[in-house]
Amino acid sequence: MKLSEIHGALKALGTQPTRSLGQNFLHDQNLADWMVDQLDIQPGESWLELGPGLGALTQCAVRRSSAGVLIEKDGRLAGYLREHYPQLEIVHGDATEYDVRSLFARGPVKVIGNLPYYVSSQILFQFTGEPSPVCMLSFTLQKELAERLSAEPRTKAYGALTLLLGRRWRVKYLRTLGPAVFTPAPKVDSAVVLLTPRPAGELPECDGARFNKLVKQGFSQRRKQLRKMLPECTDRWAELCAALGVEPTVRAEELSILQWINLTNLIDGRAGHDGAALARQAQDVHGERFDVVDENDHVIAQASRHEVHEGNLRHRAVHVFVFDRHGQLFLQKRSRWKDRHPSVWDSSAAGHLNAGQDYDDTARRELAEELGVEAPVELVARIAACPETGWEFVGLYRAQHQGPFKLPPAEIETGGFFSIDQVKHWIASRPQDFAPGFLRCWAEFNR
Ligand code: SAM
Repeated sequence: MKLSEIHGALKALGTQPTRSLGQNFLHDQNLADWMVDQLDIQPGESWLELGPGLGALTQCAVRRSSAGVLIEKDGRLAGYLREHYPQLEIVHGDATEYDVRSLFARGPVKVIGNLPYYVSSQILFQFTGEPSPVCMLSFTLQKELAERLSAEPRTKAYGALTLLLGRRWRVKYLRTLGPAVFTPAPKVDSAVVLLTPRPAGELPECDGARFNKLVKQGFSQRRKQLRKMLPECTDRWAELCAALGVEPTVRAEELSILQWINLTNLIDGRAGHDGAALARQAQDVHGERFDVVDENDHVIAQASRHEVHEGNLRHRAVHVFVFDRHGQLFLQKRSRWKDRHPSVWDSSAAGHLNAGQDYDDTARRELAEELGVEAPVELVARIAACPETGWEFVGLYRAQHQGPFKLPPAEIETGGFFSIDQVKHWIASRPQDFAPGFLRCWAEFNR
């Protein structure tokens, strides 16, 4: 938008920029176009803008795709945007309170924003946290924050923030913006960053919650030696440092992201760091044998995992739906390393019956193995073997648990609770995001 257009719009609305809402409006149209270009939005692709203001970026993004959602906290500006962009969904609300899970129904979403600086970090974590369908973000931030996100080890800017985001996202510092491109001009420089998910296998898998906790602990007093910040590791410190190839006097800021992940895995006693290898190990457990059953679920033979799947032999499995106290369903995203149905969403826990095992015991075992919890299970339905279940006779169970869960990274990429409405909308608009066995169970559950 031109400077004159911004002043004209504010005048027509009878308002002034509100400093407490971080209202600095971009008046450089080339810059706005360049920023939106960074996301390479294709026709029909979903995008989301946070803090759209008077629409400096919106007008560029909407030319590329009309599948956009805007979240604006200022009611007068939200009203203005509704008038000017009737084709977009406009949410008058606080981006830090927005329920990102409702976006799954839109498929992968690209996010853009000249963010209000007073809540930039909160917004960053909100939209990059797990689980989230966000596949790319381009944000204007205060320059200092942008430097912290993209910092290298052993620099002043490198810290917990760099690592908490950097484990799952590549952060690229694109360019610095002086105050003069905004009206009113802010007192500080700004910078544009681009965040893209780290490709599969670029870094080893690890327990994300454990990693975050260690990093926060390690950086809570950054000038101190790490040994002093992680007292629970004192007994094994020399051994851990030798394995990481660092001196025992190392400080938090001297470890790279890879070393922090390796430290997490060493502390967790997880030897194999490579996701593919871990998944192979997990699937090798399938040296186990399964009961092969007839069309009435009577055992007629035994076979290996490979044989039942290759030969479409009827066998047995359980699915467990875990609900929290609000009636939300926990869904897991299958690991990208899985041999069957990788990277799609599935029941809270699911797995095969080994030869001779019964359904109830297996449901409890799967809760323990996949979510790391114990809870009573209740049989909800039995589903006959069919192509959607992969020729499994399924015992469908329900259980109640609030989490937190401990997800095995080789098997499960992420997970989260979703309201029943969110699941319904998501399935209706994007059934391809789900494992066919889950869809069959969901249909049975809702009969
Ligand atoms: N995108 C516009 C532009 O580039 O001209 C405006 C950018 S201005 C830096 C930040 C915008 O975020 C303002 O419109 C402000 O009202 C809005 N905002 C402030 N806090 C917000 C919040 N918590 N959630 C959503 N929008 C917010």
